[in-house]
Amino acid sequence: MVYDYACPECGKTFEGYNRVANRATHVCDCGATALLKFSIKPIQVTPVIHEFVERHFGPKPVLVRGRTHKRQLLKELGLVQTG
Ligand SMILES: [Zn+2]
Repeated sequence: MVYDYACPECGKTFEGYNRVANRATHVCDCGATALLKFSIKPIQVTPVIHEFVERHFGPKPVLVRGRTHKRQLLKELGLVQTG
């Protein structure tokens, strides 16, 4: 796997190949130990889900006012509660 590393010594960031078990650190060009950099990537959503989110969680979020209302909403939206 290729991971992103940041060197605390020289400030360099680079991609380095590493085994999953050894991914936490990588030797930098300067000789110091670079640390795994966690980057937050945008969440990928499918167009269908995106449309759903836009419609129901966009500017006008759906407020569930109670169990009966929730059941009604689930029915209206064609959803099934799984948990
Ligand atoms: Zn370095």
